[in-house]
Amino acid sequence: MSLSCFDFGERMLTVGEARTAALELVPRPLGDEWQSLKSLHGRVLAQSIVSPIDVPQNTNSAMDGIALAWPEADAERPDSWVLAGEVLAGHRHEGLLGPGECLRITTGAPLPACVDTVIMHEQVKLHAGRIRVQHPGSVRKGQNVRLAGEDIAQGVVALATGTRLGAAELGLLASLGMEQALVRRRPRVAVFSTGDEVTAPGEFLPEAGIFDANRFSLAGLIVEHGGEVCDLGILPDDRHVMIAALADAAGDADLVITSGGVSVGEADQVRAALAEVGELGFWKIAIRPGRPLACGRLGPQQTPFFGLPGNPVAAMVTFLQFVAPTLRRLQGCQAPDPWRLTALAESDLPSRKGRVDFLRGIFHCDAGGQLRVRSTGHQGSGILSSMVAANCLIEIAADRENLARGEAVTIQPFADICRGMPR
Ligand code: AMP
Ligand code: MG
Repeated sequence: MSLSCFDFGERMLTVGEARTAALELVPRPLGDEWQSLKSLHGRVLAQSIVSPIDVPQNTNSAMDGIALAWPEADAERPDSWVLAGEVLAGHRHEGLLGPGECLRITTGAPLPACVDTVIMHEQVKLHAGRIRVQHPGSVRKGQNVRLAGEDIAQGVVALATGTRLGAAELGLLASLGMEQALVRRRPRVAVFSTGDEVTAPGEFLPEAGIFDANRFSLAGLIVEHGGEVCDLGILPDDRHVMIAALADAAGDADLVITSGGVSVGEADQVRAALAEVGELGFWKIAIRPGRPLACGRLGPQQTPFFGLPGNPVAAMVTFLQFVAPTLRRLQGCQAPDPWRLTALAESDLPSRKGRVDFLRGIFHCDAGGQLRVRSTGHQGSGILSSMVAANCLIEIAADRENLARGEAVTIQPFADICRGMPR
């Protein structure tokens, strides 16, 4: 049975339940569009790519050397070969080689018919137009040869639907001769900050003001996760203004995010506005930092909505746990969950039972190949410098208390989205 975020009432959700419920806000991926090769970086395939050719196209030389037909039996091996010409990369050698003949060949040049082996220049001697192999016993028939189709054979699926295209995938598409591909449309994500105290960078900071960090960290995360940012500025703690702004944003965006204004304080108007413009879903999750969080659908298009907490670390942590998987689902990625590894704690890690704790961590691999992780230090949910220092989140399960040094713990690396993240 699927989990709907509207079925929970006031019950506290686990992080896993909340993620599943968030994904249910996206019934299907966005539509698709053709994009040229140059614009494909970071995009997600909406088609599987079947190779139209063998890569490499021809059986060819893996190095500069001497190409010849190496006899099966030692007894058939001549003392030396006649150097009958050369074949360079980008050219074909026309005609057949006679018995006992060889060719000079460069890396990437197609092997002529009947030739099967390449020997490095350094391992042969040339004398009076004849080539002598210095250590014939160490030659393997077929050595230094790249077979046609050994990378990708014609007709096989080279890249599956749902693959995010990073540098290697772009190179692979190009090696198939593709100059365009069908990809998912990039999700348009509207982002607001909220709060009377929140001030745009560059403006005068009032005595009780705070500069708006969230709109910019969230915009960065949106782009890193394949979205397109619609920056809708800062909203005051005014319910009517918020209702109008959310209704407007929902008409135009694939996903709407706000930060701040979701707790039960007097000035916290996001939940009230959400109830007017759409449907309010879960908002109690057993997570720290990250409470409170609202989620639901807006307007007639039922645009997915996340009201993230105002504290800057909490806003980023909840984005990574709930919004990022939703963005991946909108783009049709196959595995929406965060990427996880296991590391050993280098120091004691504080945690209370009952909620999943996300600490900011620094992980590394020690000389023995073991991943180890330590905390960045002070873990307040307003300490944005802890996110700058960190290269991962340390995820401590709800049923675990303080972890001792040396215990195994789950980490979520901040990975380059094209490499480390699930596709
Ligand atoms: P709230 O969830 O609105 O109660 O906000 C919680 C805390 O986060 C308060 O200290 C806010 O001032 C702060 N905060 C809210 N929005 C932002 C923002 N966009 N940038 C930086 N801090 C914020
Ligand atoms: Mg506020």
